[in-house]
Amino acid sequence: RATLAADAIAVEERWCARNYKPLPVVISRAKGVWLWDADGHKYLDMMSAYSAVNTGHGHPRILKALTEQAERVAVVSRAFHTDRLGPFLAKLCQVTGLDGACPMNTGAEAVETAIKAARRWAYTVKGVPADRAEIIVAEGNFHGRTTTIVGFSSEPEYRDGFGPFAPGFTLVPYGDAAAIEKAITPNTAAVLLEPIQGEAGIVVPPAGYLQAVREICDKHNVKLILDEIQAGMGRTGKWFAFQHEGIRPDGLCLGKALGGGVMPVSAFVGTHELIASFKPGNHGSTFGGNPLAAAVGLEAIRVIEEEGLVQRSAELGGHLMDRLRAIGSPLVRQVRGKGLWVGVDIDPGLATARAVCEELMRRGVLSKETHETVIRLAPPLVISREELDWAIDRLEDTLAAM
Ligand code: PLP
Repeated sequence: RATLAADAIAVEERWCARNYKPLPVVISRAKGVWLWDADGHKYLDMMSAYSAVNTGHGHPRILKALTEQAERVAVVSRAFHTDRLGPFLAKLCQVTGLDGACPMNTGAEAVETAIKAARRWAYTVKGVPADRAEIIVAEGNFHGRTTTIVGFSSEPEYRDGFGPFAPGFTLVPYGDAAAIEKAITPNTAAVLLEPIQGEAGIVVPPAGYLQAVREICDKHNVKLILDEIQAGMGRTGKWFAFQHEGIRPDGLCLGKALGGGVMPVSAFVGTHELIASFKPGNHGSTFGGNPLAAAVGLEAIRVIEEEGLVQRSAELGGHLMDRLRAIGSPLVRQVRGKGLWVGVDIDPGLATARAVCEELMRRGVLSKETHETVIRLAPPLVISREELDWAIDRLEDTLAAM
């Protein structure tokens, strides 16, 4: 690799905590679905920053909203009202079909907000005794990196050395609705799930799972909270993954793509009953709901809506899946996903997902393995069919060459 890249990697590695293991590429510019490294090589982005860049890099409308709002007013904290927050959250509630929202910045904060809302509802409405509320979560979950959240992860790597952890979470197998019903007690406040588990390796639960969980939650007066921080905003070929099963959750965590690929914007969106958990002073965030974030968030939703990106994700996602399933490489154990969000499971006896990603990088396609065996394919939803085919051709070449 040329020296510019090597120098940049050396400086970063000297000063930055080693909590990531990036591919050896140094990105210095991006537009749409394309990334350029410090030496001018061009790559197709099949990662979209873990779904944060659904609208593509440097979308002109989002950059315009960002810069115009930055010049007008960017941050005032929620000590004052602004003319931007209301319209953003009204639109967010319209697309989610929910009643109200609490704006935050990162995904983990939206999940923490959901946990707080559910617990407070349990104490003030359901009548759960103080400090006894329970939340049911699934094995293989990924909801962020705060100490509370990693405390209920089933992944030793996320937890080891970070305890003690908060009590009040019950782990059950993912995809098994009966296991959820069995785990419910009179103190259960909520079930918290990803409709498709992203970080676990794009794990798609059996059809009917969310519907069954919805019925169980209704039967036992338990709130259903979905984390669509990675799945939402068109990624799976619907606005939200829960729409594939025709249900509505009581609470919904959103983030990533809500920030239009330019800044962190997240929210907990919910029914009146859950949003009513919050009273002046009991929850907050200095940056949550700032006018810059609100302007960008509103424009990100409008771009997805007005450019038909949800439909595009459904159509091109079907094409991606068909082509991947037709590859027939002995290296590929399984291809799974929904919309433009697919995991290719590599047989670890034949190759590591990391080695495939490094080989793909040399051919001009950037993706990243999740765990040891899964290659994630999740391009910006603005990708064209030709660009997508180009990336799939490179993957085919890569698999054939390994
Ligand atoms: N929830 C899900 C489903 C995620 O995929 C992620 C990030 O990958 C998060 C929560 C955490 O989001 P953040 O990294 O913005 O805190």
